[in-house]
Amino acid sequence: MSAFGIDAWLSLGACGVVDGYGAVAAWIAGRLQLMDARVDSPSADVVGLVEAACAGGDVSGELAQLARCRPDLVRPFHRRLVDADVWWPVDLYRGMDEVTAEYLVQRIEAGAQRPDKLLELLAVGATDTAVEAMWRWDRQPPAWASRLHWPVHRYAHVGGWEFDSAGAVRPLTSTVAFALVPDESGTAAVSGGVLVSWCRWCDLPLWRLLDVDLSTGTLPDITAPEADRVVVASCIRCGCFANVFTEYDTAGSCRWAEDNQRPDFLGHEDPPWQLPTAPPLCIGPPRPTPFAADASRADGSTFGGSPDWLGDPWYPSCPRCHQTMLYVGMITGDDLWSVSSGGCRYLFFDAQCGLAVAVYQN
Ligand SMILES: [Zn+2]
Ligand SMILES: [Zn+2]
Repeated sequence: MSAFGIDAWLSLGACGVVDGYGAVAAWIAGRLQLMDARVDSPSADVVGLVEAACAGGDVSGELAQLARCRPDLVRPFHRRLVDADVWWPVDLYRGMDEVTAEYLVQRIEAGAQRPDKLLELLAVGATDTAVEAMWRWDRQPPAWASRLHWPVHRYAHVGGWEFDSAGAVRPLTSTVAFALVPDESGTAAVSGGVLVSWCRWCDLPLWRLLDVDLSTGTLPDITAPEADRVVVASCIRCGCFANVFTEYDTAGSCRWAEDNQRPDFLGHEDPPWQLPTAPPLCIGPPRPTPFAADASRADGSTFGGSPDWLGDPWYPSCPRCHQTMLYVGMITGDDLWSVSSGGCRYLFFDAQCGLAVAVYQN
């Protein structure tokens, strides 16, 4: 099982980050309003949810949330879901085992109709079998690879990782995630407020989306030596239309990056934009899994973990060193304005160059 497998984060309970299944079950029961009985003896209910998905091709929100919070309960049904061509959301396939990965590899090599969809599932599974097959196909593309939207290696982004130059997995996300919650004390905020730096395209002050010290080991798998304090900011307006890069230093200052290139379509005439009005956010309780963020909810903002993409996965490259930037969290529109405004800002940084960016999707 690779570093991205289910065991990696289930074992977090052992180091006290997540209190094992008890906390997970409590979280599901409370947060998702699932009955305790369903959590204690879930198999019959999961069968019903899976069969409904296979029959209608439409995955219920309940099944999707279950897969994000208890992937082990959905894992026994992976083969059934694959055979019914249920490919979305890909979170259904978190915690994949090697048997399913081998099955997917065989299906692709036997000429599956949609190798692109099965590749996405392999990327999410990220088992040793999946990673080895994807590396092999990327080095020596088979005939079917010419029908793909992207090169094989690019599909790894669907699972939140990429290949390094030697073919090893370079994770782009964290195996640990925390809710971002309103800062009741008013002293622990890590998100919210304007900076003393302005957008050069529209003159709005830059908005502080995240300011955290990663050197404390809060996100244990993104503690590169140079990953110290990370500040991600953006223009609330222009960041909805283009990726606005900001440059930060470990003392906490953050400013417009010279690398930004104004897109032609941005325009100048615009009604005034309202800056966010919701209270600042601080780091709250751990999420039960790294996949439990929710881009559509008022309390879905998350520090660490994996992005809940509203659109296609999109990991930006650093404009200076061209390395893929690391994901560090997401802020939902509802959490910025305290009203249902939709959209989500996905936060990335490159510690070596001191650059950060918020990718907007809605
Ligand atoms: Zn702007
Ligand atoms: Zn860089």
